[in-house]
Amino acid sequence: MALDVAWAQRWARQTAESISEAKSTLIDLDREIGDGDHGENLDRGFQAVVTKLDALEASPEHISDVLRLVATTLMSSVGGASGPLYGTAYLRAAKVTGLAELDAHGVVALLEGALEGIAARGRAVPGEKTMVDAWSPAVDAAVGAAGRGASPVEVLVAAADAAAEGARSTGPLVATKGRASYLGERSAGHEDPGATSSAIILRAAVLAATA
Ligand code: ADP
Ligand code: MG
Ligand code: MG
Repeated sequence: MALDVAWAQRWARQTAESISEAKSTLIDLDREIGDGDHGENLDRGFQAVVTKLDALEASPEHISDVLRLVATTLMSSVGGASGPLYGTAYLRAAKVTGLAELDAHGVVALLEGALEGIAARGRAVPGEKTMVDAWSPAVDAAVGAAGRGASPVEVLVAAADAAAEGARSTGPLVATKGRASYLGERSAGHEDPGATSSAIILRAAVLAATA
């Protein structure tokens, strides 16, 4: 299936659905090592995205238009750390996505843009028990898959699988960024909510490409 502007819209809508389904899980995770609002924050943000998409008079022309709409909506409607972090991710992803249809390298560029946005905004590196621990392995897996000649959708699948594994790998880590870092050693033993929602967002990209 082509990864075009229609896919980008399905991705945004599928993300809203998947985040809504996972809302209580994300709340529970954030209750363990944060303030318990991550599920609420993201659900509000992506529902606002759907409302904005529904209200558009003309269909968006480019993938980047959709990504920019998601970025600005999340920035203005999501309280907490994750709003600006995801907002910057989608904004950077939009900048590198001038293509009408993503090829395998276009998918890699989109994911790299998102990771760079989060890392720059959060000053985070891998291993700090944040979203970066999902996006960083996702980018690595995408680069590997594209290098082996995988199709664009296969590159997305590789990224989503690696993000899920990355989110699971945050369990034993001690947080050194964000609210969870206030807990120090006690942050170990729980998976990071932001890494978990990142894996959900990337799985939604796959669902939008295969549904
Ligand atoms: P808040 O912590 O303000 O309540 P959320 O609960 O919505 O915000 O989001 C928390 C998530 O944000 C964390 O689980 C983590 O993945 C991510 N996060 C927090 N600070 C940073 C940072 N500096 N860099 C990258 N990700 C971060
Ligand atoms: Mg929180
Ligand atoms: Mg909060």
